[in-house]
Amino acid sequence: MSIILVVNVGSSSVKYQLIDMGKDKPVRLARGLVERIGLDSSIHTYIPLDGEMMRKELEVPDHSKAIEVALETLLDPDVGVIADRGEIAAVGHRVVHGGEKFSSSTIINDEVMEQIMECRRLAPLHNPHNIKGIEACRRLFPHTPQVAVFDTAFHQSMPPHAFLYALPHELYTEQGVRRYGFHGSSHRFVAREAARELGRPLSELKLITVHLGNGCSITAVQGGASMDTSMGLTPLEGLVMGTRSGDIDPAIPLMLMRTSGIHTEGMERILNRKSGILGLSGIGSDMREIEEAVEAGDEAGIRTLEVFCYRIKKYIGAYMTVLGGLDALVFTGGIGENSMVVRQKSTAGLEFLGIHLDHEQNRRLNRSRGRISRQDSPVAVFIIPTDEELVIAEDTYALLGGG
Ligand code: AMP
Repeated sequence: MSIILVVNVGSSSVKYQLIDMGKDKPVRLARGLVERIGLDSSIHTYIPLDGEMMRKELEVPDHSKAIEVALETLLDPDVGVIADRGEIAAVGHRVVHGGEKFSSSTIINDEVMEQIMECRRLAPLHNPHNIKGIEACRRLFPHTPQVAVFDTAFHQSMPPHAFLYALPHELYTEQGVRRYGFHGSSHRFVAREAARELGRPLSELKLITVHLGNGCSITAVQGGASMDTSMGLTPLEGLVMGTRSGDIDPAIPLMLMRTSGIHTEGMERILNRKSGILGLSGIGSDMREIEEAVEAGDEAGIRTLEVFCYRIKKYIGAYMTVLGGLDALVFTGGIGENSMVVRQKSTAGLEFLGIHLDHEQNRRLNRSRGRISRQDSPVAVFIIPTDEELVIAEDTYALLGGG
């Protein structure tokens, strides 16, 4: 029994993968996505190993139904990849917030479930959806182990001077207000893979991992442990993101709420959905649109790219001082893997810190994996495509006693 179902539940989507961990190398048997859950017509995309992509419009009122649809498809005699749901050894769930309770992945029981529920307060936009996914799977597979893999767990190694905010200390001790950090599975994965690329043990490396997707975060990793990361109590702090502001003066929302009559929900909408690349550019939240605008000489596109890359550069400098040096800088995520210009701009002028990009390699290796720094660069720079689903499958399999 080595087949793991990985489930990643978002506000209106369910992503899933079925991965067989029992072979020499993990084998992805199938993957799929149910989108637009609860809207007029939902869309199910499914790709079996060695098969054709299938795309279907159907009615999916809630997350539970979405997981049922996924399971029916995986079991389908024509396009499915398993004959019986009993072949699934365990289900691994991505859970965004694990608070201070979880510093590693864990098998879900009633007590764990209660603790995940408690973390809803810290991640009201994310954890409730993750909980719906777990509840649906516990109903659909009552005898199958369920595992939670937390985005926050990897960052639990941060020292207090990195995770404490300079707020009244009771806010931390009584309400858990501190930096938690997110994208942990991604940072953990690319740090491990960077060590592989360097052919050196992770335990002796100083790394900065830059995850640039729809959400963006950057982490200082020493000896395989997170020392500091840009996201905070919630995934809103730090780098500029697709629609999230990242770092701002905390007085800004207070001023707007006082002077413009905006209330909590309106403010939350501005900071989470109307800011970042979208807000700055007024064009869209997708870096591809910004790159096109920059090529056309559009001012809004140019300023957005400048702010986006400047923020990354500032954090690289900060984290090099946190680590006291750097062996490698790693770019990952949709933008990190695909945007030549972002990698180039966010490292330009850092030669004095030992970061020398090889511009030809940066172009040639776009969208793939490899070293994009000059051979004589003291700091290696890599593109490493992330694989959060694989991390979830690995942790889940390991907790079953495999791996
Ligand atoms: P992710 O959340 O990791 O899937 O990343 C999604 C984001 O990656 C999109 O919103 C785009 O901004 C960005 N992206 C994807 N493909 C490209 C590309 N070819 N060039 C630039 N940015 C891209």
